[in-house]
Amino acid sequence: MSAPRALLIVDVQNDFCPGGALAVVDGDKVAAVLNKYIAAFVKQDALVIASRDWHPRKTKHFKEFGGPWPAHCVQNTPGAAFHPALKLPARTIVVSKGMDPDKDSYSAFQAVDGRRRPLRDILKDAGVKELWVGGLATDYCVKASVLDALKHFKVYLLTDAIRGVDINPGDSKKAIDEMLKAGAREMTLENFSRKRIT
Ligand SMILES: [Zn+2]
Repeated sequence: MSAPRALLIVDVQNDFCPGGALAVVDGDKVAAVLNKYIAAFVKQDALVIASRDWHPRKTKHFKEFGGPWPAHCVQNTPGAAFHPALKLPARTIVVSKGMDPDKDSYSAFQAVDGRRRPLRDILKDAGVKELWVGGLATDYCVKASVLDALKHFKVYLLTDAIRGVDINPGDSKKAIDEMLKAGAREMTLENFSRKRIT
């Protein structure tokens, strides 16, 4: 039986890391921390899920077509690939979002797997009760995913495994406050190792 806990890694893709089309400062630094959580979750036989932004070339999400962002994470381009420092196990469930050219889709709960199963169904079917969330970017996709997750699951926000865009200074901090106020619990690798949470 799988553990009632799952790890959700949000959008740790090349375009959101230094050198990418929509780089988050130190975005790649989340990988080393997430790798430790991945190892612990694999050991517990818990689900590891990785979401990805997976846009068509033409989408209202991009500036060129009236949206807020430069083109990023276009399907099947190197920018859309997971960052190579992230050590995803072979059995990782990949869920994709942002395919609809009329929608932004920041939340991983708008993502589906290869069989078009929505994330929520994947988690429910696996009996998941607790979702641990890290990745990119704090003030957009992580925030949207956590706020959605809180409607159905107990949520731990991995505060040392997230980085934000901070278009306005303080956006990430505000996003973290908002997630905690909404009921997310804070977790760091240090606390995780110390408490040996099982
Ligand atoms: Zn996007």
